[in-house]
Amino acid sequence: MGYKKASFIENIAEKIGIIPNLHKEGYQEFDGDMRQFTDEEVAEMYENFPPPEKWDNWEEYDPKVWPKKEKKTYQIVPTTCFNCESACGLTAFIDKETGEVKKFEGNPYHPGSRGRNCAKGPATINQITDPDRILFPLKRKGKRGEGEWERVSWDEALDSIAARIRKALQEDRHNEIAYHVGRPGAEGFMNWVLPAWGIDGHNSHTNICSSGARFGYNLWYGYDRPSPDHAEAKFILLISAHLESGHYFNPHAQRIIEGKMKGAKLATMDPRLSNTASMSDYWMPSYPGTEAAVLLAMALIILERGLYNRDYLENWTNWQEYLKARHGDKAVTFENYIAAMIEEYKEFTPEFAEKESGVKAEMIEEIAVKIGEAGERFASHNWRSAGASNLGGWAVARCLHFLTVLTGAVGAKGGTSPNSWNKFKPEVPHNPKPQKKWNELHFPKEYPLAFFEMSQLLPHLLKDGRGKMDVYFSRVFNPVWTYPDGFTWMEMFMDESKFGLHTALTPTWNETAFFADFVLPMGLASERHDINSYATHGGTWVAFRQPVLREAARRNGKPVEYTFEANPGEVWEEDEFWIELSWRIDPDGSMGIRKHFESPNQPGKKITIEEYYQYIFERIKGLPETAKKEGLTEFEYMAKYGAFEIEKGESYNKNENPLSQEQLKDTEIDKENGVIRKNGKDIGVMVNGNAVVGFPTPSRKNEFYSQTMVDWKWPEYATPKYIKSHIHNDVLDKSKGEYVLVPTFRLPTLIHSRSGNAKWLVEISNRNPIWMHPDDAAKWNFKTGDLVKMNTDIGYFIDKVWVTQSMKPGVVACSHHIGRWRREQDKTGNRWATNTVNIDNSEKGKWKMTTKSGIKPFESDDKDSKRIFWKDGGVHQNITHAVHPDPISGMHTWHQRVRIEKPKEGENYGDIFVDTDKSHKIFKEWLAMTRPAPGPDGLRRPLWFKRAFRPDESTYYIKEEK
Ligand code: SF4
Repeated sequence: MGYKKASFIENIAEKIGIIPNLHKEGYQEFDGDMRQFTDEEVAEMYENFPPPEKWDNWEEYDPKVWPKKEKKTYQIVPTTCFNCESACGLTAFIDKETGEVKKFEGNPYHPGSRGRNCAKGPATINQITDPDRILFPLKRKGKRGEGEWERVSWDEALDSIAARIRKALQEDRHNEIAYHVGRPGAEGFMNWVLPAWGIDGHNSHTNICSSGARFGYNLWYGYDRPSPDHAEAKFILLISAHLESGHYFNPHAQRIIEGKMKGAKLATMDPRLSNTASMSDYWMPSYPGTEAAVLLAMALIILERGLYNRDYLENWTNWQEYLKARHGDKAVTFENYIAAMIEEYKEFTPEFAEKESGVKAEMIEEIAVKIGEAGERFASHNWRSAGASNLGGWAVARCLHFLTVLTGAVGAKGGTSPNSWNKFKPEVPHNPKPQKKWNELHFPKEYPLAFFEMSQLLPHLLKDGRGKMDVYFSRVFNPVWTYPDGFTWMEMFMDESKFGLHTALTPTWNETAFFADFVLPMGLASERHDINSYATHGGTWVAFRQPVLREAARRNGKPVEYTFEANPGEVWEEDEFWIELSWRIDPDGSMGIRKHFESPNQPGKKITIEEYYQYIFERIKGLPETAKKEGLTEFEYMAKYGAFEIEKGESYNKNENPLSQEQLKDTEIDKENGVIRKNGKDIGVMVNGNAVVGFPTPSRKNEFYSQTMVDWKWPEYATPKYIKSHIHNDVLDKSKGEYVLVPTFRLPTLIHSRSGNAKWLVEISNRNPIWMHPDDAAKWNFKTGDLVKMNTDIGYFIDKVWVTQSMKPGVVACSHHIGRWRREQDKTGNRWATNTVNIDNSEKGKWKMTTKSGIKPFESDDKDSKRIFWKDGGVHQNITHAVHPDPISGMHTWHQRVRIEKPKEGENYGDIFVDTDKSHKIFKEWLAMTRPAPGPDGLRRPLWFKRAFRPDESTYYIKEEK
C-alpha cells in the first residue's frame, strides 16, 4: 500500500500545507469506511474563490503591476469551457472599467469539474484575444480555395443559404442538405433543428473517434458509453491515457486520483509510457491491437478461480439463450454456463496473452485477481485508443465490459455505469417528429451496424457518384486536416458538382474553411449558449455555457437582442443563427418549419434565446424549487451559477428500477426469457419475480450471446472475441522495415485542430516527432532529431525521430495534434501554430506538400506575437493515411502499417506525398469486407441499435418490406 510512510520532504510539504496530508488516517485504507470529503473540506477548497454574492463587484489586486498594490474591479460570469467534450466550468473575470474579459478561472459550483481545469480551460483567454480570429462573416471571391474573401452582412449570408435550402426542400432533395459536426459541445439543439427541416442531415466525426468502443459496449447492454465511478472504485483499469486526455478526462482524472488516494489501484494498458501510465500502479505496454487477448485472459482467470459474481451473472446476463443456441446438448444450468465459458476461452492463458501482447503473464494474472477481488468496485474506461485504431477494435470494449459483467460492477457503486444514467437530456419546445428520410451518404447499406455516420467515407461516396451535397455546413469540423485522406476531401471540396454551397461555421481559420463559400464566425466558449451534461461520476448535472458579455450586459440593465451585439466584431453564435435561418427558409410558415421556432409564450413570434433555455430549465428536476429559494427564474439561476446538480451521487443499479403499476397495465410476459412487452415494444424484464426495466437490449439483460450478430451475418462474433488487427505482427514484414505506427495519442495541452489559436498551449507543445525505442533507433542508426520517412499505404510523410524509452520496442508513435498549415494565398490564421506550405497537384491524383516556412514571430496588437521562439510547426500525418473503416462498427481504424526508411537526397522535413487514386482503391478494398443490409425483415439496421438523429421507424426498412 502506498502513502503509509511519508518521506522527509512529504512530511514538510504536508506540514506547511503545500500538499494535502496524504498520510493522515483514512487516506490509505479501504477496509472500514472509505474516505469521503466532508462538506467542511469541500467548503475549504472553495474558500479562496470569490463567493457568488460578490460576483457582480469583485475586487482583487492586479498581479501584473506587482509589487504595487493596485485594485481591479471585476464582474464574474460563469460559462463552460469548449476546448474538449468535458465542458468544465469556467468563470470569466470581466474588467468593469474596460468591459473586457481579462481571465478565466474554474467554477467551483460546477459539479463535474468542481473548480478545476486543465491548461486548455484558462487558455480560452488566448482564443478570444487571438489577433488572427475571424470577426465578420466572409464570402469567397474567385474560385473555391483560391483564398480571396470579402466581408458580407449576416443578412446576405442568411438569405443566400436559406434560399438554397428552401429550393432543395421544395424539390424533395432533402438528402442533399447536411450539417457536419466535429465537437458538438451542446445537448439537444440540432436534434431540434434538423428534424424540424425534415432532413436526415446530421453527420458527425464519431467514426473517426469513438464508434469502435460504442459498438462494443452497445452489443452488451444497449448503451454505447461507459461512466466509470472512479472515486469509489477499488481497482481502475484504463485502456490508454485517460488520466491526461480523452473524454471527460479532467473530471475523471480528479476522481481517479481521489480513488487512488483512498487506496484504489490503477492499471493502464498502452504501448506508450504516457503520463497516465507513469501515474499507474501497473503499466501494461501491450502490442497495439492485442488488448482484447489480454482482457480475455483476465476473464478466464476470474472464471477459473471462481472470482466472478454469481448473482449478477445469473440474473443479468442472457446465459440461457447462449446455452440453448450454442450448447443445445447441455442442460440449461448455471454451472454449465460457467463451464461453457471456460471452454470457450481456454486458449486465452496468460502465456498466450503474453505471446500476443508482450505484457508479462504474471502481471496479467496479478491484475485479473485484483479485479476479481475488487468485485463490484471495478471501474474501467476505453474510449478512442485501441477501440479506435484496429480492425475489430470494438472487441476491446466488448472484452473490457466482459470483466465488468463478471465482477457484477455494471452500474454498481465504484463500478462502471452506462453513460446515459448520468446524463441529462433536455426537453425542447415544439419538439419536431423524427424525419421520414434516410440518408445513405451517411448510413450506407454496407454498414448496417455502424456507430454512427460513415463520415470518413463521404468524399469517397461522392467520388463514386452516390449523391451530392448541395448545401453543406461544416461546424467545429476540419476534415481536411483531422481526417484520414484529407487530399480526397480537398478534391471533393473543390468540385462544385459534389459540394454545392459549403458554409464553414467556425471561430477560427482552418484547413477546411479555406475551401468554403461562406466562413461565418461563431463564438468561442465565452461567446455562445449551449447546454452541457456529461457522465463524469455517479451523479447527474447540467451546465450552461453562455456569452459572458451578453450576460453581464443583462445584469447591468443593458440587455441586447442578439448575441453578436455583445461579442467582439460580429461574432455570433449558432443557436440564434439556426433559429434565424429556419425562419428565413420558411418565412410564411407554409413549409411547416417555422412553427417549431416560434415563441412558446407568444404564438406567431420568433422564439428568443432566453425563452428557449427557460423552457428547458424549468423542466429540470429540482431546479425550479432551488431557483425559487433565491427569488430567481430558472434561467436566471443558471445564468448566475452556470450549473446545477440534478442528482448527487447515487445513480446506481437503474436496471433494477421497478416498473410501475401503470406501466404494467396491458403487458405480456415472454415465457422464454421473461421480457415484458407492451403494444409490441419491450419495456422490462422479470428478474427474481420482480418486474424491472432492465437494459435496452432484446433480452433486457447484458448479452453475452448476441443473436443480433448472428442475424446480421456475423455469427463468428456472437460472443466476446479477440479479433486480430490489420496491423497484427503476423501481417507486418519486418524485413522490409514495416512497423505499426500509433498515430492516435493526444498531447494533454492541445485539442485536435482547435488549439492553434491559443498561444500558451502552442508555446508548450509545438512539434510531433516519431517516438522510437532506443533498440529500434539503434537498428536504423537513428539519433534524436534525425529525419525519418514514414511510408503509409498511400504516400509518405517526413518527420524527425525522438528516441525514448517511453515507447514499446517494435512500435512507433506520433501525436496527432501538430502539423497545422496554411498556403500563401490563405488568410492568416493560427499563426502561433501553422507552417506555410506549398501544395502541388500538377499531376491528377498526386499531391505533394512541402514546407515553405515554419512558425515565425509576427506583428500584432498582442506583444507576445513578436516573442515567438519556436519555429517547428510539426508535420501533418493524418493526410497520408488511407480510410480503413472497420466492416462492422464502421470505426476508422487509425493504426497504420508504415515502412520506415531514411529520406533520400533532396527530401526534407515536412514533405508529404499522397496518391488519392490509391486511397480510393483502398476504400474499395475495405468496402468489400462488409456484409451489407438488408438484415432480418428487410431492415437497414437493427431497430434496437442507437442511431444519431434517429429517423422515423418506417425508414429502417429497405423498400416496402415491412
Ligand atoms: S478538461 Fe480542459 S479542455 Fe476539457 S473542458 Fe475541462 S478545462 Fe476545458
